[in-house]
Amino acid sequence: MSPRELGFIGLGVMGYPMALNLLKKLDEGARLHVYDVDERALKKFEQEAPTKVHVCANAREVAKSSTILFTIVPEGRHVRSVYLDERAGVLTTSIDDKILVDCSTIDTATSMDVGEAVRQNSKTAAFYDAPVSGGSLGAAAGTLTFMLGCAEDDPKFTLLNELLSAMGSSIFPCGGFSLGLTAKLCNNYCSGLIAIATAEAMNIGIKSGMNPALLAKVFATSTAQSTINDKWNPVPGVCPNAPASKGYHGGFKVQLMKKDFALAVEAADRVGAQLELGVSGLKVYQEASEDDRCRDLDSRVVFRYIGGEEDWEAKLTTRQ
Ligand code: NAD
Repeated sequence: MSPRELGFIGLGVMGYPMALNLLKKLDEGARLHVYDVDERALKKFEQEAPTKVHVCANAREVAKSSTILFTIVPEGRHVRSVYLDERAGVLTTSIDDKILVDCSTIDTATSMDVGEAVRQNSKTAAFYDAPVSGGSLGAAAGTLTFMLGCAEDDPKFTLLNELLSAMGSSIFPCGGFSLGLTAKLCNNYCSGLIAIATAEAMNIGIKSGMNPALLAKVFATSTAQSTINDKWNPVPGVCPNAPASKGYHGGFKVQLMKKDFALAVEAADRVGAQLELGVSGLKVYQEASEDDRCRDLDSRVVFRYIGGEEDWEAKLTTRQ
């Protein structure tokens, strides 16, 4: 890869493996400047390749040291802090000619505010929204989907495509600024509702005496087919590798789904898109996030939230 000085801020569940993949693809002599508020994450990352990694004291130092900077932090307030903090934010140093790429899933209003602040600060800097899909497994495997907020003919797309390909296998220029976030929020709204619908439908089947593993096979070749059904089935024991079959551990936390779902409902409100399922879906994810039986677990734990029969196998055997 051509740029020699790259920056990465946010070494969490997603950022750490993403930055690691970027590190592996760096040209000889190139460096990755990193920062996270969590010092343990920084120390651990430095040990991955001490000669290639430069640990910075704050976001400002990362921005100063690099020409292209990636950020991935939890929410809009964290993105504001990284870019706009008056003492140590990215915009407290010269950002001329730099490319700034935010991969966090946040509200489009915050992203637009940061984009505007970047434009006010420098005529030659560029700021992009580039949220990801694929979870921690996709981040580790380098197979993430990137939804990039730019047009296909954006002059920086070729370079961005090359860099993002170190971390992902599908890079979509979504048409213009903030449309990457729009694509991400629409995706999570849809997949969040499919998870609830699949959980409810499976539960009707189980309570009627049907084996859910068989029901999932029926769905797979019928009109209820979905990735949620086939790979992330909410019913324990249906997909052996899905979080549901591992006590709902791993996967995409229910609180993150609540955040994204709420952002999608907000976006719908802002653009005047009618939602019939938004209020009900949001209630499910809000309540599941606050429920001790579900909190911190994979979002497909909605099956547990609706009182789904998790011990269906034992009950089915008794019935036979
Ligand atoms: P995480 O909480 O594991 O990691 C976030 C990291 O950002 C942490 O290491 C934290 O210390 C750091 N951080 C927070 N504020 C900071 C600041 N001001 N400066 C520097 N570092 C700061 O979160 P995650 O799961 O990696 O998610 C990050 C983003 O990616 C979120 O917006 C999330 O919605 C999105 N996302 C997550 C997944 C997933 O499966 N976890 C999938 C797709 C998208």
